[in-house]
Amino acid sequence: MGKVYLVGAGPGDAELLTLKAAHILAAADIVLHDSLVSEEVLAKVSRTAQIIDVGKRCGRKLLTQDEINLLLVTYAAANEVVVRLKGGDPLVFGRAGEELQALREANVQFEIVPGITAALGAAAAAGISLTDRRLASQILFSTFTRRPEANTLEWGALSPATTLVLYMPGPDYAEVALRVREAGLPADLPCVIVSGATGPQQQIRWTSLAHLAHEVKLPAPAVLIIGRVATGQFQDFAAGYCPEQERIVGEASRPVS
Ligand code: SAH
Repeated sequence: MGKVYLVGAGPGDAELLTLKAAHILAAADIVLHDSLVSEEVLAKVSRTAQIIDVGKRCGRKLLTQDEINLLLVTYAAANEVVVRLKGGDPLVFGRAGEELQALREANVQFEIVPGITAALGAAAAAGISLTDRRLASQILFSTFTRRPEANTLEWGALSPATTLVLYMPGPDYAEVALRVREAGLPADLPCVIVSGATGPQQQIRWTSLAHLAHEVKLPAPAVLIIGRVATGQFQDFAAGYCPEQERIVGEASRPVS
């Protein structure tokens, strides 16, 4: 029986991979990755490994979750070293729950290798402390519930001492601002949009809940950090995370064979 490694690829810059992730990628037989995983990270995969893109492209799923679960179990049963490579951390908004359940049910050995989640890459990019003790006492990693039967936020009332990091905010910033206001946060609360954090396309925009609706839309993947800590007052001299200028261009992922 092989083994499945659920590995976090981090937010973009391959230098942010853990040493353990890099070792496992170099020893892999099969790598199943999401579309968020950068080419630079894929370049760390063993030259002899088979690389399968199981992610979404333009909203169209390449493989269903059940198909992915089946591939993980099947390759492990064939005695392969299987890597399920996910952007950021595998356990944050990564559907790992379903995959872990399938692996447990099939008695497949697995190991989880954490990665740097987008919220932390974005905070580093923006040069802000998510829990600056003068301004915030808690962090909430969240997203909108887009299931039709529950299309509200499941936050309850939010304290302004919360730093809210919103994953998958979508392009409708007016809706985001409205729903965050409905959860009790004030209009003058600062917020920062970070797109492509730590990667070569990184972009950062400082705004507030009141102005969010009129902001230029930044390309996905992007997170919104909303809270007193998200002030751009130091932006001119913030030494945030600067990805290296020289990028390593990896092999394009190969199709399923
Ligand atoms: N497991 C991932 C999250 C997957 S959900 C993690 O831990 O980061 C996908 C969402 O993550 C995107 O819609 C976006 O909100 C966020 N994201 C992923 N990579 C990002 C990046 N480099 N910069 C900004 N946001 C990112």
